[in-house]
Amino acid sequence: MAWQPAIRPELEVKVMAAKPNPCPCGGSDYTTCCGRYHAGVFAPDAESLMKPLAIRLGRQTTPANALVMMRSRYSAYVLKLGAYLLATWHPDTRPATLDLNDDKWLGLEIKKHIVESSSHATVEFVARYKIAGRAHRLHEISRFVQENGQWYYVNGNFPQHL
Ligand SMILES: [Zn+2]
Repeated sequence: MAWQPAIRPELEVKVMAAKPNPCPCGGSDYTTCCGRYHAGVFAPDAESLMKPLAIRLGRQTTPANALVMMRSRYSAYVLKLGAYLLATWHPDTRPATLDLNDDKWLGLEIKKHIVESSSHATVEFVARYKIAGRAHRLHEISRFVQENGQWYYVNGNFPQHL
């Protein structure tokens, strides 16, 4: 019997991501779109969550602006990458845990990216999803801040009219 090395879960994800496939955010290829940002954050422990993603990944691999961060977070919701969502959530508003349910995300439409300063920006988007066979729309204006080269999701508000 040949000895089989145990495959670590993070390596399995990398192998899957290496196949060319469309990115959930609408990009043409997951690996070169949001996948490269997700790749460094598989299962951070509590201690590493406290360090900015930019420092853990190197500055090349963290989204360079709030819009790219927003897209990578949408893709993380689609792929149920809770660790990535928590790591990119500002510590002031980050929930202790994240319950990613079985909602099926159908698509992302970016409405507006407003850069207020080098460290503050908002992204307005509509995300479509399905719960129990019924389609819904999430229309949100998300606030992002940048600290130490890392963009973070802070919170969002929900405009009444689409
Ligand atoms: Zn993407």
